[in-house]
Amino acid sequence: MIVTRFAPSPTGHLHLGHAFSAFNAWRRARAAGGRFLLRLEDIDPGRCRPEFGAAIQRDLGWLGLTWDEPVRVQSRHLAEYQAVLDGLAERALAYPCFCTRADIAREIAASAGAPHGPDGAVLYPGTCRCLSSSERADRIAAGERFALRLDMQAALRSAPSYPALWYEEDGEGRIACRPECFGDVVLARKDAPASYHLCVTHDDTVQGVTLVTRGADLKPATDLHRLLQDLMGWAPPRYAHHRLLTDTAGRRLAKRDKAMTLDALRAEGVSARAIIERFG
Ligand code: GLU
Repeated sequence: MIVTRFAPSPTGHLHLGHAFSAFNAWRRARAAGGRFLLRLEDIDPGRCRPEFGAAIQRDLGWLGLTWDEPVRVQSRHLAEYQAVLDGLAERALAYPCFCTRADIAREIAASAGAPHGPDGAVLYPGTCRCLSSSERADRIAAGERFALRLDMQAALRSAPSYPALWYEEDGEGRIACRPECFGDVVLARKDAPASYHLCVTHDDTVQGVTLVTRGADLKPATDLHRLLQDLMGWAPPRYAHHRLLTDTAGRRLAKRDKAMTLDALRAEGVSARAIIERFG
């Protein structure tokens, strides 16, 4: 049975690009008599708002993209993510990082030739990886805030399939993964209980998702997701990354494009049918 999902973050109103993504997941499931799930990725307390979650469900309903219940709301599953984080820390695959942005910037400025990750950001230089367990314990006991980072080198050594790690991309076949280019990626931020990467892989597993459909902008992250799945013994889904919708200037649609929200289009009198036909 094919199981797909649409997994928006409720940080604003859905725009045409989100609707296209939801439509892709919905169509793939429905065409095969499968299940289409909705997941609200509201793990970032600073950016997500419940009213956007409600608006997302209203907009999808209006489009006729009905999902199979229940809706999974990530903020209701924090204990599950914490258990995964604890397990990785116990296996010495994750460590607390006390660095501030300024600490990291200073460290990078002092080092020659800092490598960059897939998103263009400079990789974490590993400052807190080498702290002794007693220093870690003392700083935590003193109330110092910390993020949890993956120890990438330890993770690669421990992953059963690495370096022969790959995923199946619809229409392309096997794609080889190079998760090392992410460095010691953050798994839980100081101000958010768990990262997107951790929650998305965990939830796709527990929800039994068999085909992940999402925008091509997230394709590079799949290398890291495969590593996390491999470390945790989670069976990988197949992937189908789709093109991103762009505006007339060729820029990908974003939350700043207020005129492209489903809300605004509906208010202008555009019908749900006209929107779906545009995707067809
Ligand atoms: N929550 C992510 C976003 O809104 C999408 C997650 C995914 O499809 O993997 O960009």
